[in-house]
Parts: sequence; C-alpha cells; structure tokens
Amino acid sequence: MKVLKFGGTSVGSAENINKVISILQQQSKSSKIVVVVSAVGSITDKLIEAAELACEKDSDYINKYNNIWSIHNKVIEGLFINPENDKEIQQQHDLLHEIISDKLYELRSLLDGIYLINELSPKTKDKLLSYGEYCSSTIISHTLRSRHIDAQLKNSQELIVTDSNFNNAQVNFTITNKNIQDYFKNSEPSITILPGFVSKSGSNEITTLGRGGSDYTAAIIAAAIDANELQIWTDVSGMFTTNPKLVKQASPITELSYQEAVELSHFGAKVLYPPTVMPVLRKKIPIVIKNTMEPEAIGTTITLDKKPNGISPVKGISNIDGIALLTLQGNGMVGIPGFSKRLFETLAQEKINIILITQASSEHSICFGISQNDASKAKNAIDEAFEFEITLQKLDPIVVETDLSIIAVVGDKMKSHQGISGKMFSTLGKNNVNIRAIAQGASERNISAVIHKNDVKKALNSLHEQFFELRTKQINLFITGVGNVGERLIEQIKQQKSYLKENFKINLRVTGLSNSRTMVVDDDGINLKDWKSTLANGEKASLKGFFDNAKKLNLRNSVFVDITANSDVANIYPQYLKESISVVACNKIACSDNFDYYSELKSLSRKYNASFLFETNVGAGLPVIDTLNHLITSGDKVNNIKAVLSGSLNFIFNNFNANSTFHDIVKQAQTEGYTEPDPRIDLSGVDVARKILILARESGYKMELSDIKSKNFLTENAIKANSVEDFFSTLVDDESHYQSLYKSANAKNCQLKFVAEFKDGKAQVGLEEIPEGHPFYNLEGKDNIVMFFTERYPEQPMIIKGAGAGADVTASGLFADIIRIANN
Ligand code: ADP
Ligand code: ASP
Ligand code: MG
Repeated sequence: MKVLKFGGTSVGSAENINKVISILQQQSKSSKIVVVVSAVGSITDKLIEAAELACEKDSDYINKYNNIWSIHNKVIEGLFINPENDKEIQQQHDLLHEIISDKLYELRSLLDGIYLINELSPKTKDKLLSYGEYCSSTIISHTLRSRHIDAQLKNSQELIVTDSNFNNAQVNFTITNKNIQDYFKNSEPSITILPGFVSKSGSNEITTLGRGGSDYTAAIIAAAIDANELQIWTDVSGMFTTNPKLVKQASPITELSYQEAVELSHFGAKVLYPPTVMPVLRKKIPIVIKNTMEPEAIGTTITLDKKPNGISPVKGISNIDGIALLTLQGNGMVGIPGFSKRLFETLAQEKINIILITQASSEHSICFGISQNDASKAKNAIDEAFEFEITLQKLDPIVVETDLSIIAVVGDKMKSHQGISGKMFSTLGKNNVNIRAIAQGASERNISAVIHKNDVKKALNSLHEQFFELRTKQINLFITGVGNVGERLIEQIKQQKSYLKENFKINLRVTGLSNSRTMVVDDDGINLKDWKSTLANGEKASLKGFFDNAKKLNLRNSVFVDITANSDVANIYPQYLKESISVVACNKIACSDNFDYYSELKSLSRKYNASFLFETNVGAGLPVIDTLNHLITSGDKVNNIKAVLSGSLNFIFNNFNANSTFHDIVKQAQTEGYTEPDPRIDLSGVDVARKILILARESGYKMELSDIKSKNFLTENAIKANSVEDFFSTLVDDESHYQSLYKSANAKNCQLKFVAEFKDGKAQVGLEEIPEGHPFYNLEGKDNIVMFFTERYPEQPMIIKGAGAGADVTASGLFADIIRIANN
C-alpha cells in the first residue's frame, strides 16, 4: 500500500482536485492507496481569523465565515458541472451540498458562541480547525464516488489518539497504530480518503497535530500499515535547495537523507512538517515529495542514503522567521552545575520549544532562539525562576531581541568538507548581514545563524549563489543619470549580459533607473529592451526615493552608479555606502570636493565593505586610477605626474589654427559632446584641476582644489561672461588673443597643450607650448596622456595614453568599475 497526502493548494480548487483525482486513478491501478487531505487552501488560516475576530467581538467574523462558505461552495460547483443533466449526479451533488451546509451551520454556531462568550480556548480552537479537513475530505470522497471510483471516507479522528495538548497534540502510538492496523486489515475499497491534521484525545475531545500536521497524519498511517511509500503531493516540485518564494534560482533536490530532511524542515522548509520524518524513518519507508500541478516532475526522494548533491556538500538552506533571541548572562553562571537544567526546565514547564542554543565557552552567557510568540512568556518565567540570582546581581535580567530569523545550511557531507562555515560567514559578511548568534550541531550536518528578518532574502540569495550556482554572482545596478553616457552604458550592458553570464558567471541586472524626471525600480531587474519607455512611465524621480527603494530591496551586490554631474547626487553617496551599497561615479564632484568628504567616503567604503570607484573621473575609460592604485598598493611612491587630461581642450587646440576661429572650434567641440554643456568648465581649467587633484589624492597627498595653481589662458572678458552665450561672443571679440597664442607656439614649432602637473607636493594646470619630440607633441584628437614618475619608474615614466573623452569610452570605464566590483 501507498499513502498519498495532498496539501492545501492541491485541494484548493475544483481544477486542482480534478488533477488529484487523475493521480489517484493512476496510482490505485497498481495497489490500494490511502489518501490524506489538507483543508482547502487557506481555509485553516481563515478559520483562525474568523475565530479571533469573533473572540474580539468584531462582527466582521461573519464576513470571514461567509467567505469560507463561498470557497467551499465554489469548489463543489466546480466539481459537479451541470448536475441536472444526470439524475444520479444530481442526487450526489445535493447530498454533498447538504452535508457540507450542515457542517458549516455547525461551524457558524461555534463562531457565534465564541462571539458571545468572548473567549477562544485552545480546545475550542481545535474543534473549529477540524472543520477545514472534514469538509475537504468529504467533498473529495463524494466526488470520487459520484464518478464511480471505489473510494471510502474514514475520519482519522477515529484512528489517531493523542494527549490533550490542544493545538499541538502528542500521539499515543500504541493505541493509534493498533487502531490503524485493525481498520486497514479489513478495508476493501481501493481508495481510502482521510482528513489530515485532526485527531482525538483519550477523552474523546478533538485535537490537532500542529500547523502543517496533515503531513504527519500521512506519516503516522504509512508507518502503522508498513506502506511501501509515503508521497507528499504539494504545490512545488520537491524540497528545494532553498525557499523558492525567496530565491528564484532555487531548484529541487532529487535525493535527501532523512536527517537532512529533518534539519531543513525543522529550520523552516515548510514543504515538509518536521515531525513527519520520524515515524517513517523507523520503518525505512521512503518519502517522495511531488507536485500535483506537475506530476511528471521527478520531485524529491527522502531515504536513508547520504548522497551529496552534485559537487556541493551543502544540500539545502532554510529559513525560519518570527524568532526571538534570549540571552541570559552574568558572573553567577560560571561553573554552577545545573544552571542550564533549571533554565530549560523553566521553558519546558511553559511548553516553550527551543529552536537553537549557543553557549560561549566562558559559560558567562547562554543564548537561545525561540518563537517570537513565546518571548514574553519566556521572559516572565525566567525572570521569576532566577529572581534570587538577579536580585543578588549574579545574573542580569534576561535580554530579549525580536524580529529575527534563523538561516540554516544543511548537508550530511558538510562534516567531511572544510571551510563550509568559513564560506558561509564570509559570504554573509561581504553582504553586510549582521549575525546575532551561531549554532553548529555536533553532527556538523547543520550550521545555523540568527540574523535580522530584513536580511533573510539577501542572505539566502547570497548563500545560494555561493553554494549552488557555480559562483554566478548577481550584480544589482541602480543607475542615475541616463544622458549620453548612461544610455551607452545601458546599451553595453544589454549587449554583454549573456556573455558575462556564460563566461564570467556574472549576472548583471539593472534594478533601478532614474533621470531627473522619473525613476523605476524592479526587484526582478528592468527589461532593457524597452527601458526608455519603462523609465518614462516611472514614478516622479527623487534622490531620496531612489535610495529608499535600493535600501528597502536590500539586494546583495547592489551598486549605485552616478552618471550625473550633480552635487546633490554626489552628497548622497555616504547613505549608499552605509547600507553596503557600492558606488561607481562618473561624477567628479565627490572626489574633488573638500578632502574630508573624499576621505570620509573612502573610510565608509572600507567600513561597510562597499566599493567606491571612480575610474572615469580621470581619462574617461583609460585605466588611469586603477593603474595608480596598483602602483601604490604594491608599495611604489608617486613623485611626479605630468598629464594632458582634457580630451576637450586637446581637441580644441589640435584643431585650432590660423585657418579657423577659436569660437568655431569651441562650438564644434560643444556640439560633438566633447566639452561639458557649459564649456567654461573645460576652458577655465577647472575640470583639469579637479582631475590632477584626484590623481594627487589617490597618490596619497592631502590636497584641496584651492591648492592647485591655474594659469588661465582666457581673456578677462571671457572669465567675466555671465552666460554661456556671452562667453561665446567674447570668443568672437577676442579672436586675436587666441590667434596670438597659436602664432607664438607655431613660430617655435610647438603644439599648444593644456597640461596638468603634480610635483613635490604641488600641482598646477595651464596651457603650454610643447616642443617637437616631447611625448605630448603628437597627442591627437581628444586623446589623454598621463605620465607617472615614481620610485620604480624614475626616468622612464609609466605612460597611459588613449581616447580620454566620449560617451562610449566613458561608459566602458564605468562598465569596467562595475566588473571590478563583480570580481571582488
Ligand atoms: P501544502 O499545503 O501542500 O502542505 P505547504 O504550503 O505546507 O504546502 O508547503 C509548500 C510550500 O513550502 C511551498 O509552496 C514553498 O513556498 C514553501 N517552502 C519553503 N521552503 C521550501 C523548500 N526548501 N522547498 C520547497 N518548498 C519550500
Ligand atoms: N490545514 C492544516 C494547516 O493549514 C494542516 C495542513 O495543511 O497540513 O496547518
Ligand atoms: Mg504543508
């Protein structure tokens, strides 16, 4: 015989019950089957809600009750379509309708009673809960019979006998096993339907086996009748590597050992109610978890075998929410035997289940995790039990922390693999998940950590990535500023996405996008095919709103990408870094603002383990800062930097000559996007001054922008101009000044270059006449060049040269910073 259990979703609609019926027909061909069913999906929750409302004297319980009625009614009507066409079916339909109506009238009286007396005892609650499973099992058995399938209904309350611990009753196996064996010995029908979850005490009162207990009912029956197999049919295709609702990449585990299944379910893998394993384990009956909606999927088989899951010794990661952590500490604890015994006895007397325990080896403190619902009961009981020691100050009053969760990494083979816990905690640490307590079972089959509930999704996703996804690393980008450069960056990401995933195991996602008008954030990643219209239809942009979204999503490997030139954006970096969100900036303001701000950002980056990268601040996509950082970290010292750092000024002076006007060339540079929208920022030398400042700071020198000498080549009029337009007209008026600069250089066979220099702790920028043969002389187009003279490169400098402006190269510089973070 086989025992099959169908959960709430599997019997949650007529459509699904029809799927269940085909599975039953199929399986009953080869042997007799016992079928345990849950209440129709969500009914148990609704029963509790209705009862709680009634108990609080809230007449809304009637609406809840009506909803319970209509859900059942809808299921019946969906199973008996056009019953009037067949007299026999009509009779079956009417009979079923009558039975369920009678039952639900009874339920209504019970709820009215709760409303009247304003009380809901655990005993009444169990009575009330039993209606869910009663109705579902009745509906299914009647439907089977109406379709001429040989099935009978048996109330499991007549078989399963428990103590009177309502809501979570303990089974009396001696009586229960005998009842079950006696019953099935003489049972003829090929299918027996039983309600799960419900049982009866020795004194004939209705009890239940704990939430999720239908799995347990099925296991108890399977063990009693020595079934060949226990099948748990649910709404997912097996036990997954982690909670599939929180981690999209989770996948079903094909094989698990009983112990692994116990650990995973104990720590929250809801798909299997933890006590389910014990009865079948004793009889070595395999458990198979299958998906009613996808019966052909392999599912999970749970047996004694301890097989690894492919290459990883970790089998699964589970999480359990609603945890409170209680810490008892004080000098009075050290070396006193029987202390823990007293503590745990106190909890046992209160029927409080301990989920996790850790004790520091100093014995100075003991820390344990329990359900948050039990926290105040536990605190009161412990404070009372240890009142004497607390008064004598040998012990501190117990400390309670709430809103926590436990995550557990599980696998039989973890014991023989070193470094699992190292990997687990470094992954959590890298993602800034704060760990409140750790426990590792002596079996080393399980390592659990207590963390804040808001970090669970991030923790599970990062651990899953670490242990199961062959190191695929998901990077979540929050990009602000989608002008020329931003647009190119998005195009490059779109183009490289699958290449990076396949070859480098980097899953690059744009999770947030914003310009000055609108913003969008999508937990699943924004579809880059039509990002422009998605962004245009987004909500009104705000810097704070964008940050709040990124913080709330709390995704691993988040990166804020600033492609603006805006100082308000530059001022928000600390907030991102404090949330361990890396910052990649094309915006130069932060790094060229006052030194204290620059160093604050650097130290936040170290403290919160979040990168702060700004390669594109100097030389667009050229690896200038990265190279400099490598020189410094490897112990070199920069003595002197000489550079042409303005692609726009280089373009201007390369094209300006006696046959053109300075105005026209500047205009052309502006139109082609080589200058800032306000070309004065380039022509005044401020932009270059910022760049050499950043290079000096990155070389380890403390400098401010005001320390940089700027030799100006513009006319007084140009400097005084109030607008961009005025500025351009001064260029026309003062053409002769610019021509004279050109002529002077030309007469000496020199080229004009706007040069930045850092030497002996001082820096200056200005226009210079560069003679033939100098490395700057032949610098073409909008190229940049940087020469680093260091202790290791004293005479022949380290030279970096190449295109130093333009949307495409700047975007690829940003891209390179993002990849640096991904490879970190
Ligand atoms: P049923 O009503 O069939 O008993 P449950 O809701 O009790 O179903 O359990 C199935 C649910 O368990 C899944 O829908 C899934 O959301 C949740 N779950 C949590 N962790 C896991 C896991 N590791 N593997 C599979 N399911 C899990
Ligand atoms: N209906 C019960 C519950 O929701 C038992 C079960 O479905 O396993 O907890
Ligand atoms: Mg369940």
